[in-house]
Amino acid sequence: MKVELIAYTPTAAGVCCDAAAICTASDNGYRSLQHSLASGHESVLEHAVFTFRVEGISRVTLAQLTRHRLASFSVQSQRYVKLDNPELVIPESIRNSSFFAEAQSSMRYMLNLYERMMEAGIPAEDARYVTPQAVPTSLIVTMNVRELRHFFSLRCCNRAQWEIRQLADEMLKLCRKAAPTLFENAGPGCVQGGCPEKKSCGHPRSKAEWDK
Ligand SMILES: Cc1cc2nc3c(=O)[nH]c(=O)nc-3n(C[C@H](O)[C@H](O)[C@H](O)COP(=O)(O)OP(=O)(O)OC[C@H]3O[C@@H](n4cnc5c(N)ncnc54)[C@H](O)[C@@H]3O)c2cc1C
Repeated sequence: MKVELIAYTPTAAGVCCDAAAICTASDNGYRSLQHSLASGHESVLEHAVFTFRVEGISRVTLAQLTRHRLASFSVQSQRYVKLDNPELVIPESIRNSSFFAEAQSSMRYMLNLYERMMEAGIPAEDARYVTPQAVPTSLIVTMNVRELRHFFSLRCCNRAQWEIRQLADEMLKLCRKAAPTLFENAGPGCVQGGCPEKKSCGHPRSKAEWDK
């Protein structure tokens, strides 16, 4: 997968600091922001947004990503854009198993059927029904900082599926570089001071992972 941060609110941290400071007529925006975040007054984080271009994620991950309702999405259309020899997203567990060859040839068979159906006049919007969830897609996603931090808390967790975790990890790395103040404490429960999972994975993550 390829993940790029293509735009974000200039002085994102400053905007959120201003939002926090105005609430209490404070002249110290940074301290106000820390105080707001500590007390759960997170709406101040909604004034800055980050936009990413994401390429090469599976339809499985697209479905998981778009469950996040407070984000904006523009996804490549399967009605107007035909799949052209797509690079399938195949999990390691399948790649390293005795099912790999069979899985790959079954998916290639369905993609070949997709091509033949379109050649026979079936529109792409209908032919796509036979394509596997492993086909890649591309999209632009925009989230505000509050939603991003929420997304990272769920999807950077070891309990999230590997592909959306990989996507969330890449996004968090980019956010930490662009606006360290806003994402210093972002990530799953284990990096925020405590795992909220009933069944912890037992492998707490470290913030350093997102600074590589
Ligand atoms: C490990 C894991 C396993 C999952 N398994 C399943 C599963 O088996 N089946 C399944 O269907 N989904 C599953 N999900 C998806 C999950 O239920 C959520 O739909 C998804 O994580 C989006 O999270 P959200 O609703 O908190 O966030 P967002 O949609 O990003 O919303 C952010 C926050 O805004 C608030 N909010 C948004 N919309 C509303 C609303 N309508 N009413 C009240 N508050 C709102 C909530 O506080 C919410 O947390 C899973 C998610 C994870 C991380």
